[in-house]
Amino acid sequence: MVHNHDLENILKINGFKITPTRLAILKVFSHDCEPINAEFIFKKLKKEKVNIVTIYRTLTSFENVGILKHVDLQKDSAYYELSGHHHHHIICTDCGMVEGFEVCDIDNLTDKVLKNSNKFNIITKHSLELFGLCKKCVIK
Ligand SMILES: [Zn+2]
Ligand SMILES: [Zn+2]
Ligand SMILES: [Zn+2]
Repeated sequence: MVHNHDLENILKINGFKITPTRLAILKVFSHDCEPINAEFIFKKLKKEKVNIVTIYRTLTSFENVGILKHVDLQKDSAYYELSGHHHHHIICTDCGMVEGFEVCDIDNLTDKVLKNSNKFNIITKHSLELFGLCKKCVIK
């Protein structure tokens, strides 16, 4: 659980004015690894009556400054999560379950890729999601 005080700091550090809407949206991202989309936030904030367009806009602006990370779940809508610690995901292509993992062997891979590349010198970031079947869906 992230505290209100920390959320206000995140906004301040990134140059945002602290508004109830921004705080409420950020608060929905209370878990370290739980990619969610605008619809999910919209439903969560039903009482606060936050406009869905505002949610889309806020998510984009949070992503632009690096508060949020876009996670490519290969679903119809864009999923985001807090960009706190470095990790990746396995996604079940049947039920959509998502699990995070922290094993990241990317340095080995980028070394090889750069050695073989005529056009690139440096890799600055990466994203990696794996797709498969969860244990429940395998026995179906
Ligand atoms: Zn995650
Ligand atoms: Zn599954
Ligand atoms: Zn990685």
